[in-house]
Parts: sequence; structure tokens; C-alpha cells
Amino acid sequence: MQQGLSCKLAPHIMINPFTDEYFMKKALNEAEMAFEKGEIPVGAIVVVNNIVIARSHNLTELLNDVTAHAEMQSITAAANYLGGKYLKDCTLYVTLEPCQMCAGALYWSQISKIVYGARDEHRGYEKMGTKLHPKTTVVRGVLDDEAADLMKRFFAERRK
Ligand code: ZN
Repeated sequence: MQQGLSCKLAPHIMINPFTDEYFMKKALNEAEMAFEKGEIPVGAIVVVNNIVIARSHNLTELLNDVTAHAEMQSITAAANYLGGKYLKDCTLYVTLEPCQMCAGALYWSQISKIVYGARDEHRGYEKMGTKLHPKTTVVRGVLDDEAADLMKRFFAERRK
């Protein structure tokens, strides 16, 4: 039977919906929330076993705090959720390459994976020469055009 055959095949041709792009879209939603508040639009989420355990966006203006970057808040929220300070088996999705402060905090968290969108040519940790933890793998450039466009729109509106 044709139908029976396709049912048997279905599990093999199913596409995993939990891609890096899927989660980066959630981080971009956070960045848009920052944008609407007049904050530099950077968003971050932390995922473990395909579950989002932390979400945050930049709040440096609202909190009047240079440490209120999206990543810093997500690190704290994820550790609270997990009940432990190390972010083992966790992935951070962040729309912009982390700065050296956030890279330092991520180093201490021993996070398993970082996925970032747009590069920060001037203030990114790679340019600054900050090292991540040896246990951390990095994926770069996921939905980077979307993240970069949001930043460009933000600074263009500010100049008006
Ligand atoms: Zn930062």
C-alpha cells in the first residue's frame, strides 16, 4: 500500500525543526524588544535539550548599567534555572558577537556552545583577543544579515 509505505518512511525524512536558525529567530525577537525600548538591539537565549531556559535583551539604558548586556542576563537566568553555575550542555544564541566582558563571563560558565549572528568588528571578543573556555564551541554568522540590519536601523533612527 502506497500510504503505508510513506508512513514507514516518514520518520527518516522528517526535518529537525530545532536548527540554529530556529533558535536564533527567538534571540532576534529579544533584540527587537530591546530596539522598541531604545536599547541597542541585542538579544540572547540559552537552550538546553531544545528547551529555552533563559531569554533576555540588552537593558544597559533602562538599568543604567554597562553590565546589563543580553548575554550577562541570560547566563544568570540559565544558572538560576539549572540550580548550578556551570552551563554544561547549554547553547547561548546571541544576535551579535559577544564583547570581552560577556566572553569572560561565558568563559567562567564553561558553556558548551555559543552561536552568534553578526560580527562586531570593533568591540567583539575576537578582535579584542579574549579567549573562551576550551570546552566551548562557536558557530558564527547565523542569521547575521537580520541581526546586522536591526543594528543599522537602530543607529540610523538615532541619528535622525
Ligand atoms: Zn557584552
